[in-house]
Amino acid sequence: MTRIYLSPPEVGEEERRVLLDAFDSNWIAPVGPDVDAFEREVAERAGVENAVALSSGTAALHLSLLLAGVGPGDEVLLPSFTFIATAAPVIHLGATPVFIDCSTASWNLDPALVEETLTRRAAAGRLPAAVIAVDLYGETADYRELETLCDRFGVPLVEDAAEAIGSTNRGRPAGSFGVAGVFSFNGNKIITTSGGGMLTTSSSALAERARYLASHAREPFPHYEHRSVGYNYRLSNLLAALGRAQLRGLDNRIERRKRIDAAYSAALAGLPGIAFMPSTVAGTSNNWLTCILIDPEEFGADREQVRVALESADIESRPTWKPLHLQPVFAGAGLIGPGHCARIFDAGLCLPTGSALSQADQARVVEIIQTQGRA
Ligand SMILES: *Cc1c(COP(=O)(O)O)cnc(C)c1O
Repeated sequence: MTRIYLSPPEVGEEERRVLLDAFDSNWIAPVGPDVDAFEREVAERAGVENAVALSSGTAALHLSLLLAGVGPGDEVLLPSFTFIATAAPVIHLGATPVFIDCSTASWNLDPALVEETLTRRAAAGRLPAAVIAVDLYGETADYRELETLCDRFGVPLVEDAAEAIGSTNRGRPAGSFGVAGVFSFNGNKIITTSGGGMLTTSSSALAERARYLASHAREPFPHYEHRSVGYNYRLSNLLAALGRAQLRGLDNRIERRKRIDAAYSAALAGLPGIAFMPSTVAGTSNNWLTCILIDPEEFGADREQVRVALESADIESRPTWKPLHLQPVFAGAGLIGPGHCARIFDAGLCLPTGSALSQADQARVVEIIQTQGRA
């Protein structure tokens, strides 16, 4: 039996062919026809006018925050319950992350806490420079509330949709909310370029600015002319070719992940002490990862015992994100909210959800979890 991974990349003959075609065309640079086409295709998928292909989702977040005007000394509101890449660019810009709790109804940013915080900051005359919302595990945040709030306070909203390409909220695609959205094509995401990302925005001016900053802020001269210092953040044309093939398979992957999620639900949701991540009533998820909560008293084993049992059977699972306010690097930063995210971290486990997970392999995962329970 082979190891079962959490969310391995899935590439096939088509990816191999387009990659070699791009190679043979000699566009082996962070510029070329596949970069342009990948940008158009992702923009269309996200329902926005523009997309800028970048070397990672983290780079896309960094540029989004720059475009939003975040600078040294500013505050940025973001969820504590996320991967560190959401907060890293805030630090890179010399700004301070302010960690907000999630709601138990969605595991995403609690709009009521965002409102409270913005109200308090406004009264003190010190509004944050931006709010970052994250679409956790493919579930979109509450954008009806968050967009209204950010508009009301005049604070730019950035959507970290790194995990959510293909998801929707009230009919609008992930990546279309706020001043800019961010996708990641890292190896573990639902579609991958091995490493890569995309910045999406309906503003052509912001997209142009992002391209300029991502290309060493090079001015349009025949020689190398620079009025400011930028970044080297563009995506390779080879990887863009790979990304285009992956994007064509996105809907099929979402369908298969939905089936995997439904099979986990059917097998595990009835067990005492097992609950599933809530899904956004107002949206559709790409079902990037299926996550469960394990109540040790009710179930008979805790999250860590289940994870270790899976690992002994050569099955990779992972605790849900460790909240950023609990990370040593952010010690003392604190959390706004009652700490739901810390309780989800204690009980939460992400299950193998790779698009190509076979029914037989999924049955192996289910069986191990079932044998851990006392029921
Ligand atoms: C993966 C991820 C990122 C970062 O994307 P990279 O392409 O790995 O830089 C950012 N935010 C979240 C929520 C992610 O899951």
